[in-house]
Amino acid sequence: MSPRRRRNIFQTRDQRFNYRFGNPAMRRRYRVRSKRRLIIAICVLLLLLILAGIALAYFFRNDDSKADNQTAPAAATEETAAETDTQSADTQDADEQPAADSEQAEQTAEAAALPPVAVTARSLAAEAGAAAADTESAEAADTETQEETAASDAAETAAVPLLGTPHDTVVNMVETRRSDWRLLLVNEWHPIPEDFNLTTLTLLNGLDIDERAAEDLDAMIDDCYAAGYAPEIASAYRSTDYQQQLFDELIYSFMDEGYSEEEARSKASETIATPGTSEHECGLAVDIVDMDYPYTDAGQAQTGTQQWLLEHSWEYGFILRYPEDKSSITGKVYEPWHYRYVGREYARDMHEKGLCLEEYVWQVDHTDAEASAAD
Ligand SMILES: [Zn+2]
Repeated sequence: MSPRRRRNIFQTRDQRFNYRFGNPAMRRRYRVRSKRRLIIAICVLLLLLILAGIALAYFFRNDDSKADNQTAPAAATEETAAETDTQSADTQDADEQPAADSEQAEQTAEAAALPPVAVTARSLAAEAGAAAADTESAEAADTETQEETAASDAAETAAVPLLGTPHDTVVNMVETRRSDWRLLLVNEWHPIPEDFNLTTLTLLNGLDIDERAAEDLDAMIDDCYAAGYAPEIASAYRSTDYQQQLFDELIYSFMDEGYSEEEARSKASETIATPGTSEHECGLAVDIVDMDYPYTDAGQAQTGTQQWLLEHSWEYGFILRYPEDKSSITGKVYEPWHYRYVGREYARDMHEKGLCLEEYVWQVDHTDAEASAAD
């Protein structure tokens, strides 16, 4: 047999078959291999059936207990959904599975969007903490703020007190509200309390802010930058003296335009809060503008920075304090640049309920009145 002829053996399919399977050793090997393949195929099929069963069971269970909004099974289904997803991606014969999968994926996505406040809050706080470590201000905020963030983390992990929840939760929240700086209401009718005091941190641009809001503010600005926008904090804490100075300057400028002192005063109070009633005096408010459009007018709402902030500020504990549709309640015209820190859990709650601070505080007080009447 010449080498050339030997090569030719492999050139037709029949010849190749005869060469491989005419040989008893080859035949055995083939049988073993095909048996192994069959076992693997059966195993995969069984696994798929089991996973499909689990997925369907969870699907129906979630459907039944949807109102309960349980987070634990949702987390579990997320895992199985992920598993079945990867499995079904490999096979094409599981016909009804993708439908169940996608519905379930939607559900789990919803569920996943709801619970992990504490997780994101903590990771963001950690990031912000890392960022703050670079700034000089972090040195001023020593262990005290760390203890505070640890405490607030713990608070965020605990159940969020919501309105309309059982009686004792509401009472707890009202107690919180009375002593809780986060819900401090400062407006035209509620001047800043006389015994009010705060500790501020100085931002890199020289402005001051209540140190308890600094970390979240830092995280929010960072993330807004990371999203490709150019936010700039134009105003933060103002002392009452400084507010008075701004107010007086405005009155003089109106008087220069020919208004009487009385007219100038009332015009000034339309534009700027009278001293003692500005949220900026409590250190929890910031005016944020877009660097490319640094004006505090209605056009500010159209900037990329504001669009991003309007969508995300609540995630960092900030609310747009004077929304367009709440002017009659807040007593302030639309200010698409003025954000107020209320902490992440309240911001989330207000965002979900679509309430401004006045409405929110009113509801809390109202629930309190009802609660104490019931006692
Ligand atoms: Zn402002």
